[in-house]
Amino acid sequence: MAMAPHAAKPARALREDLAGKPAIVTGSTSGIGLGIARAFAAAGMPVMLNGFGDAVEIEATRAGLADEFDVTVLYSAADMTKPDQIAGMVEQAQVAFGWVEVLVNNAGILHIGPVETTSAAQWEAVLAVNLSSAFHAIRAALPGMKAVKAGRIINVASALGLVGAAGYSAYATSKHGTMGLTKSVALEVAEHGITVNAICPGYVLTPLVEREIASAAKAGGISFEAAAKAALATGQANGRFVTSEEIGSLAAYLASSAAASITGAAIPIDGGWTAR
Ligand code: NAD
Repeated sequence: MAMAPHAAKPARALREDLAGKPAIVTGSTSGIGLGIARAFAAAGMPVMLNGFGDAVEIEATRAGLADEFDVTVLYSAADMTKPDQIAGMVEQAQVAFGWVEVLVNNAGILHIGPVETTSAAQWEAVLAVNLSSAFHAIRAALPGMKAVKAGRIINVASALGLVGAAGYSAYATSKHGTMGLTKSVALEVAEHGITVNAICPGYVLTPLVEREIASAAKAGGISFEAAAKAALATGQANGRFVTSEEIGSLAAYLASSAAASITGAAIPIDGGWTAR
């Protein structure tokens, strides 16, 4: 498997543009969200982290980013299935930073299984975390963005927001729903200096996908590497995983002034998966 290029430091012009713009990144204690939070902190943006995990590890991540990039990094433990906690997270960031200019709705969970064996609870949980949480966070953040006439909303969807896949009905539905939310809100707020876009990654080797591949390896009686190769073969034409650093760079670009005319877009970052 070819190694992905390491993300470069943000170009000077991008840093100058982004520095000081406060952001919330949901589900940023691991994986893609952490990659995005890291790219933002590297560009000088104050960031609020969010997500589950070991409290000591989360604090080490928070303090590590703050020290490395000399920016304010906060943490909210808000549960993305709880609308009141989501509103509280946005308010906490607005009070601490003064305003919130960038909202990344990234928290997500995966359920794999045929539709008839997917329980109602599994269906509801996937839709709550992957889709409804973005609605609640956008609802809470928009008045503040309108007040400063500036905002960037970035929804982390998936290649499965653009195409379906057998065994992924709840997940793909949540990600297709994210597209409807992205396009409709983009049109509603287009004249307020606010853009709304969706990033659609292919496979990224995060804990979420490691669990998926480990379980496919176990079910097929094959090695993790063989299962990873098989998973990539179903999607990515370039034969390698997308990296969280690559997604962080794309999110930083979408957050910048240079991306002011990109709105309501679904941007694949999937090694060619959805080009097939
Ligand atoms: P991950 O499991 O590494 O991270 C998920 C994050 O969401 C974690 O921080 C977790 O604590 C948080 N989270 C989960 N439930 C939460 C809740 N109820 N409240 C608050 N936080 C919660 O997964 P990842 O692969 O980094 O996924 C991030 C996003 O990217 C998801 O929306 C996922 O669907 C999407 N995505 C991932 C891939 C991939 O290949 N990894 C591909 C396409 C899209």
